[in-house]
Amino acid sequence: MKKLLAATAFFFALSALQAPPPVAPKPTSLKLWRLDCGSILIKDYNAYFSDTSAYTPGQQKNLTASCYLIQDAGRYLLWDTGLTADLLGKPEDSPAQRMSLDKSIGTQLGEIGVRPDQIEMVGISHFHFDHIGQAAQFPKAKLVIGAEDLAALRATPAHPSLKPEAIKPWLAEGSNALAVRGDVDIFKDGRVIMLNMPGHTPGHHSLLVKLASGPILLTGDLYHFSEQVPIKGVPPFNTDRADTLASMDRFDKMAANLGAKVIIQHERADIAKLPAFPLAAE
Ligand SMILES: [Zn+2]
Repeated sequence: MKKLLAATAFFFALSALQAPPPVAPKPTSLKLWRLDCGSILIKDYNAYFSDTSAYTPGQQKNLTASCYLIQDAGRYLLWDTGLTADLLGKPEDSPAQRMSLDKSIGTQLGEIGVRPDQIEMVGISHFHFDHIGQAAQFPKAKLVIGAEDLAALRATPAHPSLKPEAIKPWLAEGSNALAVRGDVDIFKDGRVIMLNMPGHTPGHHSLLVKLASGPILLTGDLYHFSEQVPIKGVPPFNTDRADTLASMDRFDKMAANLGAKVIIQHERADIAKLPAFPLAAE
């Protein structure tokens, strides 16, 4: 009997060695880096940004152009691509604005050991030049953009204010582009969602990133600076005023309900809300 008990105990001990109890899988980390994608000095921001003369006339405003790298389980989404790399060392001045770029996205990715060909998707909030400027540096990526905005960039001829050459790898029908309608779950795990927020442009989107530390909402250009938020200021060049106000209503309610940290992509003060590059928010 003793021998049998000893054998049984030995068997269970061996089983325990061979088959450790199952451990719940650790959720893979979600990371977000803020990249510097340029600076834009607006020389009269009341004229430029308000269709109701909401701000002090003749005042300048310094805006930042920011881009974001999101890593989800080893996959990469680049959100917006800022000003063109043609501006490196060659700032551009016009009566309305002054634009400059200190460092390309590719250089910044290199500093955190990410190669351009590792970017699986380039997500674009909307078709304006200050959001698609460096997209073509990632020709192997899938372009993910609102359907109406992609159609506008692909139109021949395109509207003279647009710069379709910035998305040259995806201009042909059948190229590696996803024309987004409504919201889209980027990595199909519910953690990174492109949100339908039309009005600034017809296919404009914001981005929700559900980090372990709490959700982040990236505005796209639904808002350009903090002062615009409480007064619901609408720029004169938005494509649809009513859609803009409806999108602001959805965005604000979502931010409040989720307790999300809002990052206005062009607002310099919001740079401090995220860790300074090369650190990432998690
Ligand atoms: Zn913009």
